[in-house]
Amino acid sequence: MRDTLVLNASFEPLSTVTLNRAVVLVLQDKAVVEQSHPALRVRAAAVDLPVPRVIRLCRYVRVPFRRQAPWSRRGVLVRDQHRCAYCGRRATTVDHVVPKSHGGADSWLNTVASCADDNHRKADRTPEQAGMPLLHEPFVPSPAEAMLLGLRSGERDALPDWLSAQSAA
Ligand SMILES: [Zn+2]
Repeated sequence: MRDTLVLNASFEPLSTVTLNRAVVLVLQDKAVVEQSHPALRVRAAAVDLPVPRVIRLCRYVRVPFRRQAPWSRRGVLVRDQHRCAYCGRRATTVDHVVPKSHGGADSWLNTVASCADDNHRKADRTPEQAGMPLLHEPFVPSPAEAMLLGLRSGERDALPDWLSAQSAA
């Protein structure tokens, strides 16, 4: 089942929940529907509600500590939308800008999506050494970007139980 995006009262993306959970939050007046699927409705017993795609909490939830999204190869490909940082074509590999053999780290700022050809061609060199300039600079996804990119980072753990509980109350 598709998940529903949960926005904080301040409209900042917070998390995703199951459709079930989203409906319960709306019925409990803890959230309002911001966007719904056109022409789809939830019908059960005394419930008739548009199927929510995005809900927004009525009360602001303070998230005390938000970890940076953890680095992963999959995360780099998603962040760069599977576009090669050197030629812009479809990327299936992750390249270390400063090669690991030169002390380059597994980090958001040192890795980019790359097509297999360019990854092979660049080999153990920096972009300068290889004469292969980056089309765009790598960046660290913010928690909100990570959320929208679907890079789960365990942020659910920082949210109140009543928001992330999976069973219908
Ligand atoms: Zn390429």
